[in-house]
Amino acid sequence: MEVEQILHMNKGDDETSYAKNSKIQCKILSITKPIIEETVLKILAHMPKSFGVADLGCSSGPNSLLLVSEVMDVIHAEYSRLSEPSLQFQSSTLEFRVFLNDLFSNDFNTIFMSLPEFYDKFKQDFKNSITSDEGRPNLFISAVPGSFYGRLFPTKSLHFAHSSSSLHWLSQVPPGLDTALNKGKIYISKSSPVCVFEAYSQQFQKDFSVFLKSRAEEIVSGGRMVLSFMGRRCSDPTTEESCYLQWELLAQALMTFVLEGSIEEEKVESFHAPYYAPCPEELNLVVQKEGSFVADRLEAFEIDWDGGADLDENTDNITKETIAISSGERVAKTIRAVVESMLESHFGEDLMMDALFQRYAELVSDRLSKSRNKYINLVISLIKN
Ligand code: SAH
Repeated sequence: MEVEQILHMNKGDDETSYAKNSKIQCKILSITKPIIEETVLKILAHMPKSFGVADLGCSSGPNSLLLVSEVMDVIHAEYSRLSEPSLQFQSSTLEFRVFLNDLFSNDFNTIFMSLPEFYDKFKQDFKNSITSDEGRPNLFISAVPGSFYGRLFPTKSLHFAHSSSSLHWLSQVPPGLDTALNKGKIYISKSSPVCVFEAYSQQFQKDFSVFLKSRAEEIVSGGRMVLSFMGRRCSDPTTEESCYLQWELLAQALMTFVLEGSIEEEKVESFHAPYYAPCPEELNLVVQKEGSFVADRLEAFEIDWDGGADLDENTDNITKETIAISSGERVAKTIRAVVESMLESHFGEDLMMDALFQRYAELVSDRLSKSRNKYINLVISLIKN
């Protein structure tokens, strides 16, 4: 089944929503901010009159407009820095076309509802600059639903494409993974035969190549992309630093329901996460083979499983164990907001989500009481030939 039919972040703004549980992704965006700033400044140096920006996999929640804010902040700072703004920076001459992309099932309406406030803030920041003669901002935000593994935008309409925390989702479960191959697991694991790893790696390479080919049509020559997503530093996909442990613990939580007889083992084993965390070599290989872009920089950074939020190991009366328990719950909420739709579509009503994520939180807490696990994120900056 195509991932686009089963994947969406939890909607709305209740306790299990993505909007309330996307702090890690927000933190990732803040870490890559300097790279985004640098990239926007390089594009501005060529002074496009109509600046086309796309955020791929924008989701719905507090992070959805962060990229636009970051881009606008850079432009505002640059505008304030120039004592005599060049012609392109003056009223009515510079316009911004911003395209927010995600899958068809994304909650775009919630983003639209937050736009009036966003436009107001923009108008205040820019006062007389970058607004039209009627005082309306020359900022045109639109939504473009569809999969980024394919064409989304008109030819040569973009100067900058960005994506954060999205490209680790594959377009489909890799073909050829059958139940008997990966007993008790839902992703690559230490016990997986090598063909499971190869199937995942090949699906990623195919998808990423299609992604680059599609963007190559849409981005002007000299245009740029900044992409960040889950990855790993080493070639082995089952080291501690690789995100595989998250799926391993989720599989363990699912297997407790099998032991109790409430779900069938076959049902767990036929679920395969449509996800892949690549290593830098794999990324570089695809970029070089596809050939439309040149990699400007490629870096890896670490981020705590729980985002490191509210953690102060010296705080009185808070033991390591209680810290691990609250971190476990936070991690479980983050993961639930992302994977619940997929689990629901595979397991149906037999799977009690509250109970599953309670057990998952306990497994994560146990893990975190023994070691401070981290995710690895890769960020790659690319220039269109
Ligand atoms: N960028 C946001 C959201 C990350 S969540 C942030 O940093 O918080 C990942 C998003 O990628 C989800 O909303 C999911 O629907 C979207 N996504 C996954 N596969 C996609 C695809 N093939 N095309 C477009 N969006 C996709």
